[in-house]
Amino acid sequence: MTETAAATSNGQAPEWTPESWRSKPIKQCPEYPDQTALAKSVSALKRLPPIVHPREIVQLKQHLRDVAQGKAFLLQGGDCAELFDYCEQNAIESKIKLLLQMSLVLLWGANKRVVRIGRMAGQYAKPRSSPMENLDGKQVPSFRGDILNGFRADERELDPDRLVRAYHHSSATLNYIRAAISSGIADLSKPLDWGLNHVRDPALKAKYGKAVDFLKDMRSFMHTIGAENEKFHTVDLFTSHEGLLLEYEQPLTRLLDDPTSSAPSPSPSQQPPKQAYFNTSAHFLWIGDRTRQLDHAHVEFFRGVANPLGIKVGPTTPAADLLALLRTLNPSREPGKITLITRYGADQVAALLPAHIRAVEDSEYARCVVWQCDPMHGNTQSVRCGFKTRRFSDIFSELQQTLRIHKDQGSYLGGVHLELTGDAVTECLGGSEDLGEDDLSTNYTSFCDPRLNEKQALELAFLIADHYRS
Ligand code: PEP
Ligand code: MN
Repeated sequence: MTETAAATSNGQAPEWTPESWRSKPIKQCPEYPDQTALAKSVSALKRLPPIVHPREIVQLKQHLRDVAQGKAFLLQGGDCAELFDYCEQNAIESKIKLLLQMSLVLLWGANKRVVRIGRMAGQYAKPRSSPMENLDGKQVPSFRGDILNGFRADERELDPDRLVRAYHHSSATLNYIRAAISSGIADLSKPLDWGLNHVRDPALKAKYGKAVDFLKDMRSFMHTIGAENEKFHTVDLFTSHEGLLLEYEQPLTRLLDDPTSSAPSPSPSQQPPKQAYFNTSAHFLWIGDRTRQLDHAHVEFFRGVANPLGIKVGPTTPAADLLALLRTLNPSREPGKITLITRYGADQVAALLPAHIRAVEDSEYARCVVWQCDPMHGNTQSVRCGFKTRRFSDIFSELQQTLRIHKDQGSYLGGVHLELTGDAVTECLGGSEDLGEDDLSTNYTSFCDPRLNEKQALELAFLIADHYRS
């Protein structure tokens, strides 16, 4: 571990500024050929208003504290790579509805409040393992997400204008999320289409049917007793993305009043509210598996922001790094500030997760982090026909093993992190429709990793619920 990552010899963390990341080594950093155009985009971003408000960020952090303490469950999901084209009514609505429906199932199963975070309204930057890739038989620069370049072969050059376009697509998406939710898209009194027709296995179908009947009864019971007040008509949906492109994250990170410190009616004699740096591009940001090096730029940048943060944790994470990361990113040990998003793969989780749990739970960070399972990123494979895919059975197996390991270790698995879409895509194999390799080409539309379709995602929620109820 380096001195910068933890603390200097006098025990103080070195000074942080919104720029201090620039003096550190950095992975996945784009080299813009046109620095003047980049500077123009960055100054445009600096002027634009925050996309999310500190009050919302702080509210999410409070919810995540409940998750860390075992009182709530966190559902986070969305596309691997969100495209600007997904900023469209149906795509947004179907994702909100799916997340809501899954959270009802989880609420029923785990009997706990569910906190929802979309990988939406800003998930535009992708880390890539290779700078070049094959497109229609030609080698072209890799697609790095709509915020950096375009998918079409003639759009692969990095274009700084896309930073500003990302801001506008992110704010338009969030605007519609807010509008749809406040107008009742999440109204629990409206009948939901549980779409169970696809389930082929009669036993599974009967089980799901029972759960759905229960949820419908619960709704009408609440209606009968008049419990359907405002609270039941709206749900919170927070936003998140990987904090990968620091040229975007920095200008949207602002020194603002910290709502946790401001008095309800400040008078001139009172202390002014404390301020903190809030990343206003999303409520929740995570540091990816490829950029979580202790002494590198991403960790440096995010140690200065007040938002709740995620860290991807995988087979290449040494247990000692985990603690060093927590001490760097959450020195004051705020419960719920850090979500550890574990993603090992179904065949490695049993060997690796217990040591990571012990490293954290036997330290001063016991019951301080949210443990979240990402059963997607350790289970990606390529099949004969060339498609990148994931098997539903591997995804479920990693999740099931993770649930069991946390139970054995006396820790709490507080959430799941999924790549999913509300559309009927054919990108992951298996599930109750039993998609096979030959089905993948039917509707494979992901520009990055394969996502669970609506039915597979809902099925996973039922399987998690089942774990809690049995
Ligand atoms: C992702 O979440 O899309 C991703 C790239 O994950 P990871 O950093 O865990 O590989
Ligand atoms: Mn992905």
